[in-house]
Amino acid sequence: MFGPPGSGKGTQASRVAVRLGVPHVAAGDMLRSEVARDTALGREAKPIMDAGGLVPDDLVVRMIDARLNEPDATNGVLLDGFPRTVPQAVALDTMLAARHEKVDDVISLEVHDDELKARILKRATTEGRSDDTAEGLAQRLIVYRQDTAPVLDHYRNGSTRIEAINGVGDIDVITERIIESLKHNGVALRSA
Ligand code: AMP
Repeated sequence: MFGPPGSGKGTQASRVAVRLGVPHVAAGDMLRSEVARDTALGREAKPIMDAGGLVPDDLVVRMIDARLNEPDATNGVLLDGFPRTVPQAVALDTMLAARHEKVDDVISLEVHDDELKARILKRATTEGRSDDTAEGLAQRLIVYRQDTAPVLDHYRNGSTRIEAINGVGDIDVITERIIESLKHNGVALRSA
């Protein structure tokens, strides 16, 4: 699940993972859990996350690699917020190749900047995430454009399907757009 900060990646990924019957693996949630548990990784990640930057690739790659070794990941996962840089995408290709797997689909949620800003500032009042500030968002959008948007080009050159989804509108309608796109591409889904 790919998209800018505030595009609804997390919300949609948790719904779509249920339909795919695979675990929802959210890099940001895993990092927030490391911070909450005050682990070595959490202590290193917190100031970077609060400033809207990216946690170093090697740390995130190791965290995701370990997650993919968990028994529930055997039949695949829905990754959310990973890979976020081209080196992470290359590392993921290597990790998956070692397991005779690959990235089948990239679901790309498309939302324009004004809508992203409005959503994040609204989320700041409800979820209390420490990076949901005007400055944090501005920095995350810069990082998204610079480091994360090129990840889509990485997949454009391979055999991965890219599903471009309009991410503006009612949450249920957006989920349905994703489901229809996956069905159209022959992906097997569980009933709702
Ligand atoms: P998210 O919940 O996906 O918005 O992620 C929150 C924050 O966690 C990001 O702004 C980054 O600081 C950090 N983060 C999440 N995923 C990654 C990743 N794949 N690589 C580096 N940093 C990440």
